Amino acid sequence: MDLISARDITKIYRIGEVEITAIKNLSFTISPASFVSFVGPSGSGKTTLLNLIGCLDMPTEGTMEIVGVKTPALGWKERATFRGEHIGFIFQDFNLLPVLTVYENIEYPLIMVQNVEPAERKKRVLRLLDEVGMADQKGKYPDQISGGQKQRVAIARALSTNPKLVLADEPTANLDHATAYMVLGLMKKMRDEFNTTFIFSTHDPKIVGEAEIIYTLEDGALKSKQVVKKGKAARGRKHA
Ligand code: ADP
Ligand code: MG
Repeated sequence: MDLISARDITKIYRIGEVEITAIKNLSFTISPASFVSFVGPSGSGKTTLLNLIGCLDMPTEGTMEIVGVKTPALGWKERATFRGEHIGFIFQDFNLLPVLTVYENIEYPLIMVQNVEPAERKKRVLRLLDEVGMADQKGKYPDQISGGQKQRVAIARALSTNPKLVLADEPTANLDHATAYMVLGLMKKMRDEFNTTFIFSTHDPKIVGEAEIIYTLEDGALKSKQVVKKGKAARGRKHA
């Protein structure tokens, strides 16, 4: 079964009398455990689309199913619950809580969103710290670690609730290229480890090849779908 199936999705923003069509008639499916990017220049609709997939916003027209649930039909509260159960988020500017340590940032969704009991919480956080290579930094605060390290913590935090899907809107935009490749490599490793689908957006043509499936957006419409051959990404990384 598809993890996500979207059909004829359109999103129109209305500001007074003005209408802006941010997404036009988009249809696509995404399989479980895939590694997908949405690519396109600024204004092409990437953030709008990720917000629609992430149930942060609703399409004006069209249908969408995620893990078999018709998400546009959910009410405001149900959408929040759905997000907490099934979706993790990674942000361009990391969004770590500055007053919490690395450990506490990863633990936070397990207390606030899912109410996981303490022994299980500790087990999950320690495993994720290990998986993202941040175990020796767990007592540090966000302002004491680098951008690349912050994004590693954010990846661990996104995975702490065992989501089926992680959405990352321009996760490498604030990182240099070597660090960007590292972060995408880590996301791919986590996909392999946990079978979580990762969807990231980027406007950077250099890192696009790191995805296994590339959807290119232009003015809110789907311009192309490209399936990257295995091994291409690894070769690309050598030139970073
Ligand atoms: P991208 O993330 O690829 O830069 P966006 O999804 O942010 O693209 O924007 C797509 C289009 O929708 C742009 O024309 C943008 O100006 C418009 N847009 C985005 N968000 C809003 C909003 N909240 N209200 C009105 N227009 C918006
Ligand atoms: Mg954007």
